[in-house]
Amino acid sequence: MRKKIVAGNWKMNLNFEEGQKLTSEIVNMLKDENDKDVTVVLNPPFVHLYPVKKLIGSTPNLFLGAQNCSDKTSGAYTGEVSATILASFGASYVILGHSERREYFKESNEMLTAKTKQALENGLTPIFCCGEPLEIREAGTQEEYVKNQLTESLFGFSADEISKIVIAYEPIWAIGTGKTASSDQAQEMHAALRAHFASKYGAGIADGLSILYGGSCNPGNAKDIFSKADVDGGLIGGASLKSRDFVDIIKSF
Ligand code: PEP
Repeated sequence: MRKKIVAGNWKMNLNFEEGQKLTSEIVNMLKDENDKDVTVVLNPPFVHLYPVKKLIGSTPNLFLGAQNCSDKTSGAYTGEVSATILASFGASYVILGHSERREYFKESNEMLTAKTKQALENGLTPIFCCGEPLEIREAGTQEEYVKNQLTESLFGFSADEISKIVIAYEPIWAIGTGKTASSDQAQEMHAALRAHFASKYGAGIADGLSILYGGSCNPGNAKDIFSKADVDGGLIGGASLKSRDFVDIIKSF
């Protein structure tokens, strides 16, 4: 059985009080409402990590994640945060390779290999993002494009390391646009990506990989998307900032 995961990506939103309020609401709702044992991850901005972790406490199936980590271990890298530091603050997950980081911060597939290595060495589960821009989807070459992102970044890792990674397929044209991929489009890509991992690591490893969908997921479309055989959950941006919407997405399994 693959893990069902819903991860919230707060991006660069919410001040201290807003972050505390949102977390408290989610913690309280999940106590009564997470009856399907979905793994839930909150990925706030770095400065929220410690106070959010305190509010999470020992809430079952609720974990802390970050939105990025450095590709370096430690040292004179002003403004960066290492995977070692994240782990010491109680993070269990880290989002890597989000399209916004690839685009605005020029993160390459090669750099993402180094970040993934840092995460794994520090016991963090990478939520590794991939996805195509609109022009690639329109050209119909999205599968090759996304498979290439994964091959270049991840195929140097061992089967054991790959089994510790979560994949998030996020078509860039669907992120924050209100335009979601159809559940059939998501299923088609997720199945292709699972087959891609199977071709390199074998069916056993590929079958165990959780592959999340991300891109304008909301309480109205999550049930349809999560019902697909190869969709194991969601990476949620905008809707993760509203406790009721986020928890309703979690309950869509
Ligand atoms: C994201 O940025 O990871 C994301 C999926 O955003 P949204 O849900 O807002 O499209």
